[in-house]
Amino acid sequence: MKHSIALCLLHILTMGIAFSQKSNPVPCDYEQKMIQQGLINVKSLDPSIAVLLKYSTIDNFVNKDVYGCMTACYLQKKPAQMLARANAILKKKHPHYRLLVYDGGRPFTIQKILWNSLSQYPPHQRETYVASPSQKSIHNYGCAVDLTITTNRGVPLDMGTPFDFFGKLAYPSHEEHFLKNKQLTTQQVVNRRLLRSVMQQAGFMPIKYEWWHFNALARSDAKRIYQIIE
Ligand SMILES: [Zn+2]
Repeated sequence: MKHSIALCLLHILTMGIAFSQKSNPVPCDYEQKMIQQGLINVKSLDPSIAVLLKYSTIDNFVNKDVYGCMTACYLQKKPAQMLARANAILKKKHPHYRLLVYDGGRPFTIQKILWNSLSQYPPHQRETYVASPSQKSIHNYGCAVDLTITTNRGVPLDMGTPFDFFGKLAYPSHEEHFLKNKQLTTQQVVNRRLLRSVMQQAGFMPIKYEWWHFNALARSDAKRIYQIIE
C-alpha cells in the first residue's frame, strides 16, 4: 500500500515537473528570436485569449512536438492587436466564449521540418497540407493565425472537423453543400460563421480551405512589410 502511494506521489511529482517545464520555458530560442524581430506575445495584449499551440504537443498531423520550448503565440504587432480586437468582439457578444489559438508566428526552420515530415507524399500533394518552404507561409511572417472558439470552461466549440483535418469537410467554401447533405450540422456551421464574423470584423481574411486559418495580410504585403522569422 505504502509502495503504491509512494509510486503515485512520484508519478504526480514527475507529471508536475514535466508540465512546469513545458509551460515555463526559459529561455526559448525561437521565442527570443521573435521578440527580437518585434513580434508580440498575444497574451500580453489580452490575457483572456487562450493559447494551445498544437505543434508544441503531439496532437498534430506529424504526431510530434516540433515546437519544443515554444508555447506562446507571437504575432507581428498589428495582427496581434487585431486578434485582441476579435476576442473583445467575441466576448461582448458571448461573454462565456473566448478565442483559442492553435498556431501563430511559425519559424521558417519549423516550416521546413513540417514539410520534410510529409516526405512520403509527392510535393504537389504535400502543398495541400502545408505551404512549401519555397513559397513560405504567411505564418512565417507572423501575420497568420490558426484558431477556434472555446467556452471559458475550456471546451472548444464543435466546428465539424478537428484542426488540421485534411479533407473537404474543413473547407469553408463547401459548407453550404455539406449542410445540405447533412455532413455538417447547422450548429457546426453557426459556430464557424461566428468565428469568421468576429475575425473579419477585426480585419482578418478567411481562406477557402481551412475554417481555422486567418490572414491579417495578403502574402505579398506580409513579404513586403516584414522579415521572415528564422
Ligand atoms: Zn494556418
